Amino acid sequence: MDFIAAGLTDVGMQREHNEDAFCILPDEALFVIADGMGGHRAGDVASQLATATLTSFFNETVRSDTTWPFSFDPHLSMAENRLVTAIKLANRRIFEASMQDATVHGMGTTVVGALFSRKANRFYIAHVGDSRAYRLRKGELTQLTRDHSLLNDLLLGAPDMTPEQRAEIPANVITRALGVQGSVAVDLVPDKPQAGDVYLLCSDGLNGMLTDDEIAELLMKSGDDMEHAAVALVAAANERGGEDNITVVGIRCTDWHDEPK
Ligand code: CA
Repeated sequence: MDFIAAGLTDVGMQREHNEDAFCILPDEALFVIADGMGGHRAGDVASQLATATLTSFFNETVRSDTTWPFSFDPHLSMAENRLVTAIKLANRRIFEASMQDATVHGMGTTVVGALFSRKANRFYIAHVGDSRAYRLRKGELTQLTRDHSLLNDLLLGAPDMTPEQRAEIPANVITRALGVQGSVAVDLVPDKPQAGDVYLLCSDGLNGMLTDDEIAELLMKSGDDMEHAAVALVAAANERGGEDNITVVGIRCTDWHDEPK
């Protein structure tokens, strides 16, 4: 399995600052988006600390003799441990920075990370907050993450809420974020990719402006061209109002071992 990947972040039409961040580490097959919060300066500090911590942790743990900051979970693979540990480390660093510096006190960020393990032939998707991962397969878009939002938490207790009741719940309140507490629970989903799949990571500035059907259509129109897909998705969210910062990372899975013709 090989990849064509591209990412783009945009301030949107209404915000003064972009508090989103993303990173792509092609050698590690790691893709990350973070959506910071906490107002001027603090949100961007949190999201950039998240992507910088994941980048540095993955670069450092290429060597097997590195000491890890958290204990290894024996129920998870090496790749899964690496991803979850990097996110927990980012949580700790953001939380400590928030405690030490009054100008960024209370900052936090979402994170969604996708790591491909060649050994297991799996994508591992880890997330905290409401930044999402989707997979487009044969024209069908599937959301792989479940937002850690007030709405979803309330739906767990009251699944038969009426649409009117749902509409009263603010859509943008998240119930889990990095940097808010000293420790964090990270959700992890394995997914088996197929050649031709497109994985999409995004901040809520995208899925808040576009429906899943619209996202799927724009991805399909872009074909293999992930740069075009990123530009088209951001442009469409901005045309719809661009109420928030918009960040996307598209990953197209290609395979040189396709079935013989
Ligand atoms: Ca946002």
